[in-house]
Amino acid sequence: MHKVVKAPAKINLTLDVLRKRDDGYHDVEMVMTTVDLADRIHLTLLAEDEIRVEVNKGHVPANKNNLAYQAARLLKDRYPVKGGVSIYIDKHIPVSAGLAGGSTDAAAVLRGLNDMWSLGLSLEELADIGLEIGSDVPFCVFGGTAVARGRGEDLTFISSPPPCWVVLAKPPAGVSTKDIYQRLNLDQMNHPDTEAMIQAIETKNFKEICNNLENVMEPATFELAPEVKKIKQRLIQFGAEGTVMSGSGPTVFSLAKTESKAYRLYNGLKGFMDGVFVVRLLGHRHE
Ligand code: ATP
Repeated sequence: MHKVVKAPAKINLTLDVLRKRDDGYHDVEMVMTTVDLADRIHLTLLAEDEIRVEVNKGHVPANKNNLAYQAARLLKDRYPVKGGVSIYIDKHIPVSAGLAGGSTDAAAVLRGLNDMWSLGLSLEELADIGLEIGSDVPFCVFGGTAVARGRGEDLTFISSPPPCWVVLAKPPAGVSTKDIYQRLNLDQMNHPDTEAMIQAIETKNFKEICNNLENVMEPATFELAPEVKKIKQRLIQFGAEGTVMSGSGPTVFSLAKTESKAYRLYNGLKGFMDGVFVVRLLGHRHE
């Protein structure tokens, strides 16, 4: 049996860090939504009791360190499954980009194998299992638009933003999430107005969504990788309506109301860098 599952990337419309917890994680508050830039996960059931992973990008691990492998492993260890699976990851989402590439692959494997192995688990149950792999996996199990709290697993789904375009710019800079957390000064930061963002989305107010894009990790990432700040400044110069960094970066994105506005930004930025994409905002939950 063979199946192909789409694994879309997420962007953060807001990202706030509230406090450090005793267990070492941080409590966050972020508004996340899905975009139409997706990996494709090919799942083929095997008679042998084995989990194989192959990826079309050399620098992504094709072994037990792959989050897609870990998703299959968790299901296989926990439920009476006969045989194994071969996972081929056709990667389109930039890696280590703040777009939850690995988490969405893991979530797609959970959804796909739940079906193929007839496990009958609910999305809530899959999200609980996914949390063992990473904080963004529960959101990726559902997709859509949500406010994520706690480590990122406490999800409140809200309506989708109005249809729009997203220009994603991923510079080559490598930024470590750990380094960024170390540089955050939780007592002195400008917090996003999460409530205003939720309100703007609920009322489909594109302008207010743009005005409330904010990410507390930007200053730390900009310090570690100044070229990320430069990209944000360029997008603003080219007339972007709203621009912010996604996750811990280094991807910066702008929202655009129309395709032509999106391509104006794309064409401006293309002269300076590779790794620019124009995609649609999806915003709705997986079928
Ligand atoms: P997040 O937004 O959740 O912080 P990210 O987009 O910044 O994630 P990923 O693309 O998920 O980062 O990659 C982070 C690390 O995970 C990389 O070092 C990569 O080698 C590893 N990794 C494991 N599995 C995968 C996968 N299926 N796809 C991409 N990277 C993976």
